[in-house]
This record gives sequence, structure tokens and C-alpha cells, in this order.
Amino acid sequence: MSQGPEAYIDKSRRLKDEDTFCFSCTPDKSCFTNCCYDLSLLLMPYDILRLKNHLGMKSADFLKRYTSIYVGQNSGLPVVLVKMEAPYLKCPFLEEGKGCRVYEDRPGACRTYPLARMACRSQEREGVEEFYYIIREPDCEGFQDGKEWTVRSWKKNEGIEQYNEMNDIFGEIFHAKTVSGIANLNADQIDIFHMGCYDIDSFRQYFLEGPNLDRYMESEEVIETISNDEEALLKHGMRWVNKKLFQGGCFASGSGCSR
Ligand code: SF4
Ligand code: SF4
Repeated sequence: MSQGPEAYIDKSRRLKDEDTFCFSCTPDKSCFTNCCYDLSLLLMPYDILRLKNHLGMKSADFLKRYTSIYVGQNSGLPVVLVKMEAPYLKCPFLEEGKGCRVYEDRPGACRTYPLARMACRSQEREGVEEFYYIIREPDCEGFQDGKEWTVRSWKKNEGIEQYNEMNDIFGEIFHAKTVSGIANLNADQIDIFHMGCYDIDSFRQYFLEGPNLDRYMESEEVIETISNDEEALLKHGMRWVNKKLFQGGCFASGSGCSR
């Protein structure tokens, strides 16, 4: 695999919401879709939800067909990568000569490019602090004759905020694992992580349809919300994983339950 975009991150500038940069990605550029080959495209839980719905697939089928999953060396947690297609290592969502066939639901990383989001927990207040770096890949012509954007207007234009919100909930799991001091997960724990974060349709079946104590601990209101709203279900799934694996196991949202 060629060098990933992270090799071209320009760390000389940290951009906040009001900072500006110039960029235009349009089909008339000679590099158009070149960036959709031979890349290490990590999928976050919300990316998977949007993509599997776009393609009309169950999450388990989507994961099997389009991704490979491995345990991250640094995090010790399962991560999901899009399988590039032979022989030219094409992203499977690229329709050659046309463009991205999942454009409305393309992954957060594709939306955010040419920016890279850095997020960490705030030391001073609740929540996450973020800033952005620019990725300056030498073959990308988007910086030539680019339109001026603020980071805020780019995020709005590309629909990034929803993705960031979900990714921050996912990031809480990584933080909780670090705080817990747990180095490696066993096979059962990996299955729990996989289901609650990545395989949302199996999580729905397990949590809402199967017999399990965790559901009986939830209020009717919560059950109704997550039964009717898949994004709420995914948030619940990620928080369930966090609590179950790294914070004592018992989980009822909003109840302050601890064991
Ligand atoms: S301008 Fe950059 S982001 Fe757009 S298609 Fe070309 S290489 Fe990809
Ligand atoms: S998902 Fe779409 S935009 Fe992203 S790499 Fe694949 S084809 Fe390109």
C-alpha cells in the first residue's frame, strides 16, 4: 500500500473553526478520483451504518463483503478497513469514470479530506476539543485555484458534524479502555465490541429481541427510542460496549447505575 494521507499532514498549522484554507475538488481536475485507490480507509461505526443503509444491506453482510477487521496494534481494539479491489486497489464504492457511488453516505474521512480532525477530551470542561490539520498530498490538485473556506463552513458543506458526534462517542470507548488498564480483550469481549459498535443489525436483534438482562434494566422510553431510531440505537450500542467492557458491566442509560 502506498503512503497514507497521514504522511502528508501539514502540522505547521492547527486550524480551528474560524481559520481558513483554499480547496476545490471538482470532476474537471485531472486527478479526479485518483485519491480513491490504494488507500487505508478506516470505517467508524457511523460510517458503517450509513453505508450499509445506502447499499440496502444488513450490517453483517456489508462487513463481510466490503471490509477486513483486525485488532489495532496500539489500541488493542478491533478496527474496520475497507477492502480495496484488485488489480488496482480501487475503493469498492468508486464507479470508474463516474465517481463515488455512495457519495451521499460516503465515510467521514472522505468528507473531511483535505482536513484531518484531531480530537481529545477537554481538560477544562465536559466534552471534546478539536482542531484540524491540512493534508497536502502532492498529487491532489484541489489546492490549485481553490475556493476559500473556513473550517466551520467546510464542516457544514460536507455534513461532517453528525459524523464527529458519533465518532466522539466511539472515542470514549478507547479512552475508557486506557483508563481501565485492560490491555487485551478476550474473544467474547471482542464479539461484544464488534456487535455493539459495528454490527448494528445483530445488536438490534440481540438487545431488543433476544432475552437479556441489559434490556430489562432500561426504561420503556429508552427502549422505544432505540427501537425506532437507528442512530439512537448505535449510540446506545457504543455506550453499552463502553460500560460492559470497561466500566463494570452494568448499563442502564441515564440511571447512574453502577456495580
Ligand atoms: S482534487 Fe484531491 S480530493 Fe479531489 S479528486 Fe483530486 S486528488 Fe482527490
Ligand atoms: S468512499 Fe467514495 S469518496 Fe471515499 S474513497 Fe471510496 S469512492 Fe472515494
